[in-house]
Amino acid sequence: MTMKRWIMASVAVVGLTTLVAWSSSNRESTAGKTMQLYVYEQDALIEVQPIQKSDAEWRKELSPERYRVLRGEGTECAFTGALEGNKKEGLYRCGGCGSDLFVSTTKFESGTGWPSFFQPVHENNIGTTVDYKMGAFYPRTEVHCARCGGHLGHVFEDGPKPTGLRYCINSAAMDFVEMPIRDKSIDP
Ligand SMILES: [Zn+2]
Repeated sequence: MTMKRWIMASVAVVGLTTLVAWSSSNRESTAGKTMQLYVYEQDALIEVQPIQKSDAEWRKELSPERYRVLRGEGTECAFTGALEGNKKEGLYRCGGCGSDLFVSTTKFESGTGWPSFFQPVHENNIGTTVDYKMGAFYPRTEVHCARCGGHLGHVFEDGPKPTGLRYCINSAAMDFVEMPIRDKSIDP
């Protein structure tokens, strides 16, 4: 083996070893990761692990419509969702993992045909990404459950006071639980 070849082989071995070490440590850090989830009934943040399931597991657990929305980033037809006209007092939870998402005191009539809220129950409980499904010149802010990653809907900046936001959420992505809601949760 020439000196040049020997050096190249050494560099390759060191590079590969580094890559393997990096990817295994990366995997470990994801597996042990926890998050602070807000639980409305306890009015407290609790430490939980994010929920990660295979596509096959989700498909087995969820109804076809719920799977299409939550895992396939689908959108239900306007004015067809069970919770769009719901005016009862209570809590809206993630249809995938049960995490608390919205309270009824932040729901408003948007006229769009989808349940609309001006703020989530807690910022920790939802996540956002930018999507370009409507085209490169029309970016939208996608909203998902922070714990299980299930797609919920989108958030727009044409909502009412006090936040000016409109969380446009699919009924199929949520479960509703009737319960008394504390007044302070309407504070921004
Ligand atoms: Zn969830």
